[in-house]
This record gives sequence, structure tokens and C-alpha cells, in this order.
Amino acid sequence: MGGVVVPPVEYDREFPGRIIREDLPYWDIAKASGVTGRKGRIEAYSRVFQDSLNPAAQACKIVVPVVGTGGTKAEQIADLLRHEIGHCNGWPADHKGGR
Ligand SMILES: [Zn+2]
Repeated sequence: MGGVVVPPVEYDREFPGRIIREDLPYWDIAKASGVTGRKGRIEAYSRVFQDSLNPAAQACKIVVPVVGTGGTKAEQIADLLRHEIGHCNGWPADHKGGR
């Protein structure tokens, strides 16, 4: 796993809704994401949806790899979460403006 792209400042903030985190073995993440035909590894993914517990708000599900699977190290999880929270906040998948 290389360096994780940091979201641009406008998306690099706390997500205003509930975050549902799921840890999956690395090898299950690409399939679970439903993303096909993309180059490179899919380390993690996220999805925003209407929060069933609070219909006025959105929730964001973030899936990160289980530490120790696919070479994932514990210290990478925070960077992955920061990246995915950027997506929860509307950062487009093309990573425009990433740092
Ligand atoms: Zn991304």
C-alpha cells in the first residue's frame, strides 16, 4: 500500500452525520465495493446514504481492511479513514484536488 491521498481542505473535515465503519479482510474489499474495471488496488471505500435512524441526516459507511490482511498496517487505518471521510463529505471519486 502506497501513500494515501489526503482530501483537499474543503472535504478534509469531520463528517456531520453518523459513520458506520466496517472492517473487512483486504481481499474482500474490491468485491464488496461493487466497483469494477478500475485500475489499481481498492484499499477502502465509502458510501453515503440516508440515515435510517435519523431521516433528516445522512450517514456514511466506510469499509477499511482488517489490519494484517493484504499488508495493511495499523498506522494506515487513520489515513484511510481520513481519505474516505473526504469522500463522505462529497470529494469526487476522481480525487481532484487530492494532496
Ligand atoms: Zn478515494
